[in-house]
Amino acid sequence: MADLQGIVDEIYEALVPRLGEGRVADYIPQLAHVDPRKLGLAVVDVDGSVYKAGDCDETFSIQSVSKVFTLTLALGKHGENVWRRVGREPSGSSFNSIVQLENEEGKPRNPFINAGAIAISDLVLAGHTPREAIGEIVRFVQYLANDEQIAIDPAVAKSELATGYRNIALANFMRSFGRLDHPVDHVVGVYFHHCALAMTCTQLAHAGLFLAAAGRNPLTGHTVVSRERARRINALMLTCGHYDGSGDFAYRVGLPGKSGVGGGILAVAPGKASVAVWSPGLNHNGNSLLGSLALEMLAHRTGWSVFGP
Ligand code: GLN
Repeated sequence: MADLQGIVDEIYEALVPRLGEGRVADYIPQLAHVDPRKLGLAVVDVDGSVYKAGDCDETFSIQSVSKVFTLTLALGKHGENVWRRVGREPSGSSFNSIVQLENEEGKPRNPFINAGAIAISDLVLAGHTPREAIGEIVRFVQYLANDEQIAIDPAVAKSELATGYRNIALANFMRSFGRLDHPVDHVVGVYFHHCALAMTCTQLAHAGLFLAAAGRNPLTGHTVVSRERARRINALMLTCGHYDGSGDFAYRVGLPGKSGVGGGILAVAPGKASVAVWSPGLNHNGNSLLGSLALEMLAHRTGWSVFGP
């Protein structure tokens, strides 16, 4: 799209007066101390052109956005057997909820809530030590983004573990139903580390490009997943990627998207572009307030909603 840079610039400018809105996650100091006035946008279209604005080249903690990449990796290792371990239904509950797990005998509703992503970490661990599994995830994300600079922030990983009582409880609860193959400390170790991946919007948009381009990264020529699998991952992002705010995100933005509590969102416009936004202030569902607004404006201006222009 010829004027995409103009649109991205306009969105950034329109949101400047609102910088600092929302509530920054404060459960670990590394997130609590992030400047709430940050806002970055990066769009990579399927021809490989990049359009960006604001703090798009500053690293942030991608947190739950990483769940898209671990799901992709687990599907590559285990195929459709993944769905024996996690469901594909929106939860309607908060990201760290435990309530549905009891009724569903320890089977998480989907791979994007914490319980589901912890079950996915267990699958990624198959045949690996935790260190190997973490290394595999990092290399996979580097390969997706074609950028070897991408790394985990060890201080974030350590703080996640130190404060991760609820995630450890979720893992123990699933283990009590016989739903994890590996020791709880190994599983949550992998989970906390992938949540601690630090990336820029530009890197994140590149990492998601395969989802916008039918499974193939057009910049590297690598086929990451089949066309069908890319479509299905997008479907899960649309229905489950924003927790109990997924319906509202679909209504307002109309794109598959995955949010993280660090304020990042990866959104996919199938056949068009991969988009990453970052703004640390969150709304009441724990999704980036200005990030969601930026995507709403982008979808409106481009007509990219999957539900029609
Ligand atoms: N590391 C965070 C947690 O487990 C990830 C949650 C999120 O990004 N929504 O609580």
